[in-house]
Amino acid sequence: MLVGDELYIATRRYLIDYGMRHLNGLGADHICKVCIQNGGSCCRSCNHLVDRVGCQNRNTSCTAWLCGYLKLLFYKAGLIKNWHTFWDEVPGIDFRKDFTPPLVKMTTHLEVPMMRELGEALANDLKLKLSRDKDNIDFIVLASDLDELIDEIEFAGNSDISTQLIKRLNYLIKDFHEFQQAIKNIELHKWGEKTTQV
Ligand code: SF4
Ligand code: SF4
Repeated sequence: MLVGDELYIATRRYLIDYGMRHLNGLGADHICKVCIQNGGSCCRSCNHLVDRVGCQNRNTSCTAWLCGYLKLLFYKAGLIKNWHTFWDEVPGIDFRKDFTPPLVKMTTHLEVPMMRELGEALANDLKLKLSRDKDNIDFIVLASDLDELIDEIEFAGNSDISTQLIKRLNYLIKDFHEFQQAIKNIELHKWGEKTTQV
């Protein structure tokens, strides 16, 4: 949720930590764990990766970047636009490195989500999918399809095309039952909060 738009100064370190808290707040780490165990890691062959230890040089670029599965997570949580708005303000984003200065002027301020169950649910659905598939090819192709499709949905805005694209997205994730239930639970919870406020 967007919680303010007043100018503030953030350190590069703060932006990375803040981004990681967001990702963890949606349970993205659960998805990455499944992905890494199944050969889909986006960090493969990066010089900053130490085997069995992890990334040794986190930057703003890799923190901001969302693969298809993380895009799905942010999109369904209703947080993708805010995420992009936040990182669009951060200068120096590149591939596997950044040129972000030590201090950055920012205006977007987002509330850290507390929806770890979403990422956990999607990770469980992905585990189930991988246990049924004969290899990880479909898992990798699906990540790429989701990536493209969610970009197209965002670009289409409220047009008629977006309705078709959303239908296609829902078809692609039709077997992710636990994730869909987790989304419904969150929507119900939000609706309940609204009705008790009026
Ligand atoms: S590709 Fe996505 S799910 Fe896999 S490790 Fe990278 S960010 Fe995580
Ligand atoms: S710099 Fe980016 S791609 Fe490389 S290991 Fe770290 S998070 Fe992964």
